[in-house]
Amino acid sequence: MSWDQVWIDVNIATMDPEISAPYGAITDAAIAIKEGKIAWMGPRSELPEFDVLSTPVYRGKDGWLTPGLIDAHTHLVFAGNRANEFELRLQGASYEEIARAGGGIISTVKACREASEAELFELGRQRLNALAKEGVTTVEIKSGYGLDTETELKLLRVARELGKHHHVDVKITFLGAHAIPPEYKDNSDAYVDLVLDEMLPAVIQEGLADAVDVFCENIAFSLAQTERVLSAAKQAGLDIKLHAEQLSNLGGSAMAAKLGAKSVDHIEYLDEAGVKALSESGTCATLLPGAFYFLRETQMPPIDMLRQYEVPMVLASDYNPGSSPLCSSLLMLNMGCTLFRLTPEEALAGMTRNAAKALGVEASVGVLKVGMQADFCLWDITTPAALAYSYGVDVCKEVLKNGNLVHQ
Ligand SMILES: [Zn+2]
Repeated sequence: MSWDQVWIDVNIATMDPEISAPYGAITDAAIAIKEGKIAWMGPRSELPEFDVLSTPVYRGKDGWLTPGLIDAHTHLVFAGNRANEFELRLQGASYEEIARAGGGIISTVKACREASEAELFELGRQRLNALAKEGVTTVEIKSGYGLDTETELKLLRVARELGKHHHVDVKITFLGAHAIPPEYKDNSDAYVDLVLDEMLPAVIQEGLADAVDVFCENIAFSLAQTERVLSAAKQAGLDIKLHAEQLSNLGGSAMAAKLGAKSVDHIEYLDEAGVKALSESGTCATLLPGAFYFLRETQMPPIDMLRQYEVPMVLASDYNPGSSPLCSSLLMLNMGCTLFRLTPEEALAGMTRNAAKALGVEASVGVLKVGMQADFCLWDITTPAALAYSYGVDVCKEVLKNGNLVHQ
């Protein structure tokens, strides 16, 4: 056998559903890599003979390997921050007072319109580094803080540059319909026209997005407006996904599922009809405990029903300056369990196998098996449950991307 590298003294949480053990685990395992892909994997006792003189052999000190983590929902390209607003609110200011002082999403929009591509790139790079340090090898990044054509395109271009220059793979989502900009305060339909007639064609022409997303909510876009945007995106051959059922139940999830959405995200207020629609269309349910925590929400997503209908559950950071300023994959594993009562195995599946599905990359990443990309992490833990159990101690020892060591 001729391989580029071999790992031994490891246990592997493959997350492969075809391996019946919890986490698809193989204990006392070995894994061999060739040309960036997994070439062999199994119990070490079955490792075929290979040329030990010419093949680097790494020892995992009896730690655990998992697939590289996938953060399938972030807004990590933005300028400014909302720490002042956070402080004002805790000092007792009302939402109206904060809005009058220029706070809220509009302050982020203003900062993004003013920032250069270089500034946004550097901010995005630092945040990607933070995620990568915790084992993230694939991330989704949305636009949505421009709310005009020029700035939306700028944010998408920055996301694309991050993908080119950072080892983390970036999937890009156009979220022009994130909020109604002040210029269109009394005419949201005209803003949707702008998204459809000007922004989306430009995004498609430049090949700037893999998917299109909308914030479907009473405080954002109606069900009818959302359907217009998602239908146009689908017609253009882009993936679709949706911020839905976060603060109320408008039926966005069921509508998006019928259009074949990859995922619906937040979904605290999703009802049984909505869950059924997801199950019928194979749409993933993306849970965002960071926003639930930061906004101190109390309505739980329908976890038991999602289990019952076997809807793939995804867990993501929703990293953004307004409702989830928490740039951490491991914290999300913990919150998925503590706040939403996922099992540690469900939480890990939500940042590996199911997250890959939500981004349409399940053919190459998300589980460890022969033929898949060699994207994996070595963790200094004695059981995979430890990833969700504890937080704050640096347990990420190595990260490999396409077989290359990217973090030590
Ligand atoms: Zn979001």
